[in-house]
Amino acid sequence: MTHDGACADGGASAGPIRVERMEVRRGHLVCRVAFGAASHVTSPQLMSRVLAVVPTLAQHACVNERGTTFAAVMDCTPLPHLLEHLVVDLQVRAESGQWFTLPGAAAEAPPSMAGTTHDRPIVGTSEWLDEAAGIARIDVSFADDLVALRAMRDSAAFLNELLRG
Ligand SMILES: [Zn+2]
Repeated sequence: MTHDGACADGGASAGPIRVERMEVRRGHLVCRVAFGAASHVTSPQLMSRVLAVVPTLAQHACVNERGTTFAAVMDCTPLPHLLEHLVVDLQVRAESGQWFTLPGAAAEAPPSMAGTTHDRPIVGTSEWLDEAAGIARIDVSFADDLVALRAMRDSAAFLNELLRG
């Protein structure tokens, strides 16, 4: 069920989380992500480290059973849900010129959003396809597919960096 991540993708993500597939659809990026041996839910300890880097995450609008923001559930929510919000956050940063490279991510030039205009909020959903095996689907809308792909890669690398540490 779980794979030793060492050779899975050339070592690009030496951590439990692997983005197995990214599929660009019309205005949506649909990803299949394997969480491997990682814990399947967040913890207050993990979230304090995430928020130290991405403080805006707590204020995200989020439809959940406890409230209307991600903060209401973020201390104990499925890990794919955290990844979903990270990908949304990075895309919003790119649009507003606030992009920065997350720890653990490749330090390439930030994606350019020049010429991109859109008036719909970036939103996402996430669900387990097979919770026991740690396989999830994450679906996020985008204004720019290249930014969305980069945001997914960087967010997964960032979580791997935290989970390794
Ligand atoms: Zn949410």
